[in-house]
Amino acid sequence: MRRLLVIFLAVAVAAACATSPTGRRQLQLFPESQMNEMGAAAFLQIQEQVPVDKSPVVNSYVQCVADALLATLPEQRDWEVRVFNDGTANAFALPGGKIGVHTGLLAVAETPGQLAAVIGHEIGHVLAQHSNERVSTAFATNTGLQLLQILAGSGTQQQQTMLALLGLGAQVGIILPFSRTQEAEADVIGLQLMAKAGFDPREAIALWENMERAAQGQPPEFLSTHPSHGSRIGNLQKEMPGAMKLYEQARAAGRAPRCSPPG
Ligand SMILES: [Zn+2]
Repeated sequence: MRRLLVIFLAVAVAAACATSPTGRRQLQLFPESQMNEMGAAAFLQIQEQVPVDKSPVVNSYVQCVADALLATLPEQRDWEVRVFNDGTANAFALPGGKIGVHTGLLAVAETPGQLAAVIGHEIGHVLAQHSNERVSTAFATNTGLQLLQILAGSGTQQQQTMLALLGLGAQVGIILPFSRTQEAEADVIGLQLMAKAGFDPREAIALWENMERAAQGQPPEFLSTHPSHGSRIGNLQKEMPGAMKLYEQARAAGRAPRCSPPG
């Protein structure tokens, strides 16, 4: 019985292994639809807690940069972009394609290209399904034993426990910071996205240099969960030759986003 369970679990986990856009094996235990629902719920919750910026100039600028990036994606879906009145230099993206940009970020990301670097990075987290991976890893490591016990039973009680675990796991996952590996992966995806959209990828380096300067005083929340600037800039520089090729192709194809920053 126990042996059968172990085999069953191994099969279930193997089936849930996915490959990220950069070719990395990752654990994805949750259906995408469920992650999207969690993302949508979290996005609504944030909009109740943090005032949404209604300025047309700011909104059309952020939307313009986001649209240019999203237009490069092979698979088109409905993304939602909101600007939040929050002085921290932060941005986030949630499963299901919800993007949030803090007004404080616009003081640090000084050009459309620099803003594209941050939004591209956040889109990268969504494309690579990093939230699902985080939740799945937490689920697998913290509740492996319980999971076995639940799989052993089939009653209503067990099914309810399973749902509770899934819900709880997902809620924890939304707020879990991303890992170093995920951050580096989001950087690579973001760099390629901005280049394909026709933003100069070298602006990503300028952005992280600005972030570093801005962090001299009080480090923004965004930075505390992100890798050190030195290693991040080093990684971006390694990816730069490939990104420059994509950028040149985009420019040759006439892609040159014109997004005017608010004055
Ligand atoms: Zn990140």
